[in-house]
Amino acid sequence: MSKYRENKLFILNTLTRKKELFEASSPPHVGLYVCGPTVYGDPHLGHARPAVTFDLLFRYLLHLGYKVRYVRNITDVGHLESDADEGEDKILKKARLEQLEPMEVVQQYTNSYHGSMARLNVLPPSIEPRASGHIIEQQVMAEKILENGYAYESNGSLYFDVLKYHRDHNYGKLSGRVLEDLVANARKLDTQDEKRNSVDFALWKKADPSHIMRWPSKWGEGFPGWHLECSAMSMKYLGEQFDIHGGGMDLLFPHHECEIAQSVAAGGKDAVRYWMHNNMVTINGQKMGKSLGNFITLEELFTGSHELLDASYSPMTIRFFMLQAHYGSTLDFSNEALVAAEKGLVRLMSSLKVLDRLEPGATGSFNVERFEENSYRAMNDDLGSPVLIAHLFDTSRFINSAYAGNDSITATDLERLRHLFRLFMFDILGLREEEDKEIGDLTSKLVDLLLAIRLEVKNRKDFELSDRIRNELAGFGIVVKDKKDGFEWEIKD
Ligand code: ZN
Repeated sequence: MSKYRENKLFILNTLTRKKELFEASSPPHVGLYVCGPTVYGDPHLGHARPAVTFDLLFRYLLHLGYKVRYVRNITDVGHLESDADEGEDKILKKARLEQLEPMEVVQQYTNSYHGSMARLNVLPPSIEPRASGHIIEQQVMAEKILENGYAYESNGSLYFDVLKYHRDHNYGKLSGRVLEDLVANARKLDTQDEKRNSVDFALWKKADPSHIMRWPSKWGEGFPGWHLECSAMSMKYLGEQFDIHGGGMDLLFPHHECEIAQSVAAGGKDAVRYWMHNNMVTINGQKMGKSLGNFITLEELFTGSHELLDASYSPMTIRFFMLQAHYGSTLDFSNEALVAAEKGLVRLMSSLKVLDRLEPGATGSFNVERFEENSYRAMNDDLGSPVLIAHLFDTSRFINSAYAGNDSITATDLERLRHLFRLFMFDILGLREEEDKEIGDLTSKLVDLLLAIRLEVKNRKDFELSDRIRNELAGFGIVVKDKKDGFEWEIKD
């Protein structure tokens, strides 16, 4: 085990806006909750960034020896089109448009989310709870908030009383929003409104007659408000207080601000010790949006089928591209940037192959110790994947230079370097080898050509040469079967 593994991990806590030393509340256990997708459409670039960011955190915590319970939810009810508790449920709207049962929509897009995440080599979470499977838990929590005086019932719905809460606690401490400004800028309530104040948010919404996703409750038939599911499910699986809550910056307000208020109002204390937020993705410098025509799904990226794309980009290119930026910075997608990432990844992967072929020398000019220390230091500084990748590139330059005979490395150092290079590339950054389609095609053509020549040689009765071709191919794992009308071949592991 590396001594650097014992070094301390610092993470930027969005709540305090400071880099803080991460200390698990009951080591070796770590509770990690990340807001997952609302499953009403194909996963897109905006889904990939939080998934890759918190996969990096998950992998690194596991590497450091923690036992991580990673909970990432699926939102399948209660997420309305507008943050102001208005509009249609996103799932219901899709179900209506596609003439599907809402749970068919949920299943279809959950499957497609899982498929894309697997291709990005994102590890599955430990628990993936659905909001619709935790209605009782959400009702119990809503009831507690009501009992504690921070909610009110209105016409069959239950609303969180933000102004009341703010008098006792601090609404806005995560996002930095000032309640007075929110109130001043909010639209005026009309007499029809059920809310006391427009900043209040729904814990439970009464279902109108056309709303088919509905459950009975003390307050009448309805459905839970979107923010409530994460508070209720994180408490159920991670306890009243847990270590890390993550998600995209777009969830900071109102979603996460409301989560804090709900937990404090129900249980009297903050549920989360460290908040982490990944920054947003832009495309050619613009925000991504359906109306802007730059809304790119992961499938479109993998196949190159969107008009903004010059080519297809492999899942590992996308993953590597995301890791080349710090999770806290915005990330701009463009064809040029993706091509550069693709080249960079090929360079690192081929260095790894060169590293395997490299022969040790009597003396060494590479400081493996420093490489190891720097790599851990990069990761411990708030998951500094771009800095780690820069160290890998430096090392790859050394590897190539040593292979060319201009540098050398001792046998012990070489063994250590092989281990570390793989560790950081595969286990921690979560990259993996992808089949190179062009090389695959070219290999097939070359084998076919060689075997066609072998057939000619055999017809001329030069059995010595014909056998040699067959045997040498067998040495590469290529098995040739002679047929009456030619040959067949396959690759055996
Ligand atoms: Zn959430």
